[in-house]
Order: sequence, then structure tokens, then C-alpha cells
Amino acid sequence: MAVQSVEASPAETTHPAASAAPVSLGPAVALSCRECGERFALGPIFACELCFGPLEVAYELPTGDPEALRQQIEAGPNNIWRYAPLLPVPADVADQPNLNPGFTKLVKADNLARELGVTGGLFIKDDSGNPTHSFKDRVVAIAVEAARAFGFTTLSCSSTGNLAGAVGAAAARSGFRSCVFIPHDLEQGKVVMAAVYGGELVGIEGNYDDVNRFCSELIGDPLGEGWGFVNVNLRPYYGEGSKTLAYEICEQLGWRLPDQIVIPIASGSQLTKIDKGLQELIKLGLVEDKPYKIFGAQAEGCSPVSTAFKAGHDVVRPQKPNTIAKSLAIGNPADGPYVLDIARRTGGAVEDVNDEQVVDAIKLLAQTEGIFAETAGGVTVGVTKKLIESGALDPSLSTVVLNTGDGLKTLDAVAPTTGPTATIRPSLDAFRDAGLAR
Ligand SMILES: *Cc1c(COP(=O)(O)O)cnc(C)c1O
Repeated sequence: MAVQSVEASPAETTHPAASAAPVSLGPAVALSCRECGERFALGPIFACELCFGPLEVAYELPTGDPEALRQQIEAGPNNIWRYAPLLPVPADVADQPNLNPGFTKLVKADNLARELGVTGGLFIKDDSGNPTHSFKDRVVAIAVEAARAFGFTTLSCSSTGNLAGAVGAAAARSGFRSCVFIPHDLEQGKVVMAAVYGGELVGIEGNYDDVNRFCSELIGDPLGEGWGFVNVNLRPYYGEGSKTLAYEICEQLGWRLPDQIVIPIASGSQLTKIDKGLQELIKLGLVEDKPYKIFGAQAEGCSPVSTAFKAGHDVVRPQKPNTIAKSLAIGNPADGPYVLDIARRTGGAVEDVNDEQVVDAIKLLAQTEGIFAETAGGVTVGVTKKLIESGALDPSLSTVVLNTGDGLKTLDAVAPTTGPTATIRPSLDAFRDAGLAR
């Protein structure tokens, strides 16, 4: 029998995630503060030590022939790892156990375009096609690779529902333990999907902002030691997953920027990182530089960013959410001010729709394009309609609208107004009497 050394290795005497060993995450070279620009070594940190500003991943991106890079991407796998040269992931990422999300359909929505009067080309980027049926698989896939690099063994998150499911599934596949936190009153579809993958699921008596505050406390406590919270201490990496939406949209349009994009806002992370992704494609020479407009979409019952936008404010005042669009119900959105900047800089806007308009928009998309969106998709389609009516969105320009989740997870939203046309006895007479024969 081999004699085991009783001397603890340095890695065992320190917090696994506090290891000072430099990690290698592809082209990522540092974390930089979005406010003051200070740089930090790659690690599980999310706020600037000098000014408390949010940190984001800084890169040394490939230089050289854009055509060669374009060909390399096109020859890559049919998932987000085709963009590995632009992401904070190890070079062998495609060989790691991960859910491999992405490369979802960009649907040319001609029927909806006719309905809305869009003549410049209307597309739905349908992220319900991801492994756990929401866009969250993209951000989690990147956070998983960071968690691996930093030596975390438990994955966690504060979630409005979709993230909890994405973390549970990714943990199951990638060999992590998971323990995720959600508001106690989510839709059944979200709760079941978060629980089915076998990790711990904890309902918190409060709204998302209470859940998030709780998770921040847990991170600072020994109880949370060794835990990678994908959207808190791994947030800089998590956020980068949303860039892949920008890359895919442009590649699927034939390496072209769309003129207008309509994006849902919860914390605002996705919107800011889609803009970052578009900027990178321009810098790399992968698309021709031209103006594009970014529009943000919220539900009226949780509209802190659109309220600030319309009032001309730079400060986003927190709200107490009350809407059926629960996946977007973040009353105090961390990236709100950056969303305002991007909407204003690009000439876009931030708008909101009420719950009735959300349901109408879900049905409109289903009945024109055969796409069943969750409430967040009802928000983007509803806001698109409203922005066209108000003249803020130009119907003669190419427009991409995001559907970030699957309607099967939010059946509760449409069930009360959707059902069988008739219920009859199995007889021809009964069918004739029902007046449905044509
Ligand atoms: C999380 C989520 C978003 C966007 O979230 P951000 O926090 O703004 O990045 C959009 N749609 C759905 C369905 C989501 O679950």
C-alpha cells in the first residue's frame, strides 16, 4: 500500500478558489473595471477594489487576416465554441463536458413582418432552442469553464428561474454540485426545470432582489466558501456568454450587422454584452462598420430602465416588480445605467409593454411564425410593435428581435385565455353542431 503524504499541498491549505496560480482562459488577459479602467488578474472577483465598479473581461483578440478568422469560425462546431477564439475559455473547451449551447435559429419572420408593417427584413433570434430552453445556457457555459479554472466544486446562482435550470443542467453534465436560489413564487415550469437536474433548489421568501442580496451575503460568509455563483463572483465571465448572440446574429446574416436589435432587459447584462460583441466584430474586421441601433424591452410592471430612459435620467431608480414576465423581473438592474448609455449612443430606445400586451404578443408570434415564446419573448415582440407605432423603430430597416425563452415554461401566462375551441362527443353530428366544419 502506498504511503500517503500527510503534508498538505499549498493548494489544500488555501481556499480552492483563492489559489494564486495564474489561470489560462484563452484570449482573456485580465479583468478591467468598467468605471476606472484598473486591471486585475483573472480570478473570481467582480467588483473593482478601488472604485467598486463592475469588472469585465479584457482580451488580446486575434490580429491579422479577418478572412482567416472567419473561415476558422465557420469550420468550428455548431455551438458557441465556434467563437472560442473570442471568449474567456480554454483552447480545448470543445472537449470539456459542457452543454454546448448556441447556434440557435435566426428565423426570417415574414408573416410577422407583414403584420407589423416591417419591410426591411424582420428576424427572430430564437434562443428557446438551447439545451434548457432559454438564452441562459450561453452565459452558464462560459461560467462553468471559469469555475473549473478557479477550482470551484459547487455552482450556484440567484435566479429569476431560467438561470437556475441552466445551472442545474450544466452542473449535472459537467460534474459540479449545484445549489441555486429562486424567488419562492415562480412559474411551475421554471421550478420543475430547475429541480429536475438533481441539484439543490432553494426557494427564498422574497423577490429576486431579495434573493440576490441573500447570495451576496452568502459569498462573504464561510457557508459559501468554494462556491462559484455564476452571476455574482463569476459574473464577468458569465456576461461574456451573451456576446455569442451578437456573433451568431451577424454570422447568420452573412457576416453583416443588423440595423436594429430589440433585446429584453432583466439585469441588463445581455444587452450590454451584445453591444460589446458587435463592437468586437467591427474591430476584428469580421463585419463592415456601420451604425446599428439597440432597443431595450421591459415589462411595464418592472420597468426601471425604460422609466429612466423616457425621463431622460442617467440614474435608474429601483422598482418593486409586479409582472407576468418574471424572468425579467429585476427591480434593481445592475447594468441599468450602461443600458441607458448604449440605447442613447446608438440612437435606440428603451420601451415597455403591459402584461396584456405581453400575452397578445406571445399569441401574435405563435400565430404568425409558429414560435411559442415565454413571457420575455412577448415583451420583445410587444415592444417592437409599440416602437414601430411610435416611429422610434424604422420598419424599412433590418430588425432582429430576440426570443430568449420557451413558452412551455410560462404556460401560466397564456393558459387562462387559450384552450380548446370546443369539446364534443366523438360523433359527426356533434362536430356539425359545433359549427366548425368548413
Ligand atoms: C435572464 C433572462 C434575460 C436577460 O437577462 P439580463 O439579466 O438582462 O442579462 C432575458 N430573457 C430571459 C428569458 C432570461 O431568462
